[in-house]
Amino acid sequence: MLKRDSVQMELNFNGSRRNRFRARLNDGVFQILAEVPVPGADSKIEDAVARFSDFQYLTESVTDAGATSAGLAFTDAAENAMDPVLFASALAGDNPDLHLLYLSGRGRSSDQVLAEAKHAAHLGLRNLCVVSGAAPANATAASLSRTYFLESVNALRILRDADDSAMFLGAGINPFKYTPGDAMVQYAKAVRKIGCGASFFVVQYGWDMMKLQELRWHLWRRNFNVPLFARMLFLTQDRASALCSGRIPGVRVSPDLEAALKMEMRYSPAQFRAAQIRRLQLHAAGAHLLGYSGVQLSGIDQPELFQTLLQRIREAVREFASFEDWLAAYREYYARMELAPYPYRYYMFEKLFSQAQPPDEFELRNAPIADCTRGERLRYFLSEILFRHAAELPAGERRLSKRLLAGCRSCDKCRLPMTFYVCPEHCPKGMANGPCGCSRPDGSCEYTGKECIFIRMLRLSSLLRDFVSMENGWIEQPSFRPD
Ligand code: SF4
Ligand code: SF4
Repeated sequence: MLKRDSVQMELNFNGSRRNRFRARLNDGVFQILAEVPVPGADSKIEDAVARFSDFQYLTESVTDAGATSAGLAFTDAAENAMDPVLFASALAGDNPDLHLLYLSGRGRSSDQVLAEAKHAAHLGLRNLCVVSGAAPANATAASLSRTYFLESVNALRILRDADDSAMFLGAGINPFKYTPGDAMVQYAKAVRKIGCGASFFVVQYGWDMMKLQELRWHLWRRNFNVPLFARMLFLTQDRASALCSGRIPGVRVSPDLEAALKMEMRYSPAQFRAAQIRRLQLHAAGAHLLGYSGVQLSGIDQPELFQTLLQRIREAVREFASFEDWLAAYREYYARMELAPYPYRYYMFEKLFSQAQPPDEFELRNAPIADCTRGERLRYFLSEILFRHAAELPAGERRLSKRLLAGCRSCDKCRLPMTFYVCPEHCPKGMANGPCGCSRPDGSCEYTGKECIFIRMLRLSSLLRDFVSMENGWIEQPSFRPD
């Protein structure tokens, strides 16, 4: 149990429409969010609120002269979770505007997501992180292909157009991609999300801080001054073991880091915990110096741990007066460790880590995109003749030729003309607007083991010199997944 008398409280005299989460982004206050997983539907809401009340209590503590602040992130709910809006609202009490609520598209229609977002905004939970939804544990390509995922791009667009200015929308992004193609399609999707209403991003967890800088520089280079939160996973020995064996979807560590974690797993539990606190402290301070607006801490299951991390991150933010100081500590900590999953180690910029701020001129690394095969070219040009108007026609039109050329799976909204004639139903999650974060270091899909469909689209976009189509607009999705 947390000792509450050690915490000074912040009094809330705010009006009901105030949004302190957003105001803090504007004021440059570094926000430290703790993830709160929404409990299962079999728990009573009063019990669930009582279990997490100390977390909420900590977010009301007085900030260190306004330099940092604390909040909660109610994350993507499991299938059998209780209503996330009711839970978050009950726990947040009078302070819903401090927190972030995830809205997941997994197994949800656009009407359901819209209704949930409006309900949340009505209760003061206006800061919404819109995600397509994580795959359930042990998902396979076959099980996913029976699951409907409302794509975050489409959900963002629907919420943006709902004309509810109270909503403040963000989205997820995964920059830990190490082939040029994989990185380019992730960043293209980020631009699409911004175009559809994302005003901030929460970055998937990873340990390679150069990738955090790459993302920051890339968005600045494109003139998107979008606030970023670095998500950080607090490792327990069990989680480290799951990470090393590749059981955390979309998250991979380099062989060097894996070896280091395996060595740390031989420490006593107390030493292991101390090592993880120091690692997280160092990474959070780095994110601050790299221009991130905050961190989102995952795997914090005890309020005492949240309290410790709040204190240690605040100390670290004060400890490193400059990016150079921090970089020296980071390099010493990781010694000569390679944090990219060698042999895949593409970084977009030449001068990453030379300074915190981007140079006047961005020097881009050469990013070769493979040529289309002859078969891909032929299929594209035949499809262009046959299916150019497929989006305006009934989806069943020319079904046989679609099946032959694109492997049509008979959905009710044909998107071939917008996807370079690559059928999005070949993605296990049915994504058409951009990739999920779950590709392996070589760019292959974690579920099919084959090349992610967006890499083929990228090759075609390169053939046609039409990268803009990967970034702009949005692609509506069908109302169901075909069998
Ligand atoms: S998008 Fe794919 S599954 Fe749907 S109608 Fe077109 S080719 Fe068929
Ligand atoms: S095909 Fe690509 S977008 Fe689809 S699940 Fe696999 S990695 Fe994700």
